[in-house]
Amino acid sequence: MAGPSGTGRYHRATMIVDVADCLFCGIAAGQIPATIVLDGKRTLAFRDINPQAPTHVLVISRDHYPDVAALAEAGDGLLDELVGSARAVAAAEGVEDSGYRVVFNTGADGGQTVGHVHAHVLGGRPMTWPPG
Ligand code: 5GP
Ligand code: ZN
Repeated sequence: MAGPSGTGRYHRATMIVDVADCLFCGIAAGQIPATIVLDGKRTLAFRDINPQAPTHVLVISRDHYPDVAALAEAGDGLLDELVGSARAVAAAEGVEDSGYRVVFNTGADGGQTVGHVHAHVLGGRPMTWPPG
């Protein structure tokens, strides 16, 4: 299941993703427009289309992994890099000192709606707990 690929399908719970139809692969390829915040070699950060906080940026791996568990399984330092990119986004957005939240929604009950790993970086307002 794990592993980047330009083709193929990934199955996780009820989520089936065709990489060719993957929204975030499309953004990574520049085929679907997005407001880019940080453009890395292996990661990409862009603004969420439906922001839930003054700062709401999504950080993705350029290669397709269905979720953070698959990215962790790959184990080649890319997860570290993605979280490092999230920190860099927080710094660039000016929320590093005030604080921010990094969220990986995972699977159906986790509220994941796009089957390409992404970290939400949320900040610019106090966050509540527990999340909904
Ligand atoms: P999830 O629900 O999988 O954790 O997060 C998916 C996120 O992608 C949502 O916050 C949603 O607003 C965002 N999103 C969905 N479609 C697009 C899009 O076309 N462009 C951008 N920039 N964000 C999107
Ligand atoms: Zn993808």
